[in-house]
Amino acid sequence: MAQDHKIPQVTAKRLPLYYRYLEKLHLMGKQRVSSAQLSKELLIDPATIRRDFSYLGELGKKGYGYNVSYLLQFLRDFLKQDEVTNVVLIGVGNLGTALLHYNFYKNRNIKIVAAFDSNPNKFNREIDGIPVYGIDSLKEVVQLFRVEVAILTVPVHVAQEITDKLVDAGVRGILNFTPSRLTVPVGTLVHHIDLTTELQTLVYFLKNFPEDELMEQDQELENEDE
Ligand code: ATP
Repeated sequence: MAQDHKIPQVTAKRLPLYYRYLEKLHLMGKQRVSSAQLSKELLIDPATIRRDFSYLGELGKKGYGYNVSYLLQFLRDFLKQDEVTNVVLIGVGNLGTALLHYNFYKNRNIKIVAAFDSNPNKFNREIDGIPVYGIDSLKEVVQLFRVEVAILTVPVHVAQEITDKLVDAGVRGILNFTPSRLTVPVGTLVHHIDLTTELQTLVYFLKNFPEDELMEQDQELENEDE
């Protein structure tokens, strides 16, 4: 059974990777897998894998490894992979349109059910089967589809205003692609993805640090997170 205690964020981020690979093994008819095999395929240190799984409970046997079906079912329950999460996207510009085309097709449990824009040239149509509505219909559609998660790809100056509307409509999780720091009430989660800053940081680190120093830093960051 899934444990109720909190697991480290770094572990939580790896669970979907394990899940996807186990699903593949399961489809291939494999019944067991060792941490060494998982490590080779996912490029994650075997000790890290064992530690990750140990947070979830007694999942493997020494010398046997992990039972694929059991682990898959366990992670499915843990990640609530049986439930489909309806998502909306606000701001059908270049990035928003790209994400609509992508529509997270690899994960059948996440579905963008609708998109919104304020520009009349952009709404009342479909993109890859996803309806695009005027922003005025936001609350109605969010409530109709019981949407809890939104992707924000609007210009920075309207990000907070749209966030307030989302919260008012009942959205509890926002994936924020704008550079704006959003203010939300307790109980609402914002994950911030600033692609430009991420790229700039990557370039900075590549230019300023040799490879072995970077690896040490990674390890330190991981330890801090735990
Ligand atoms: P493009 O200029 O090709 O639309 P872009 O990504 O450069 O793409 P942005 O200015 O970042 O455009 O705006 C993203 C999208 O957000 C646009 O489609 C715009 O119409 C929309 N948008 C702007 N303000 C709002 C708002 N208040 N509510 C909903 N959508 C909005």
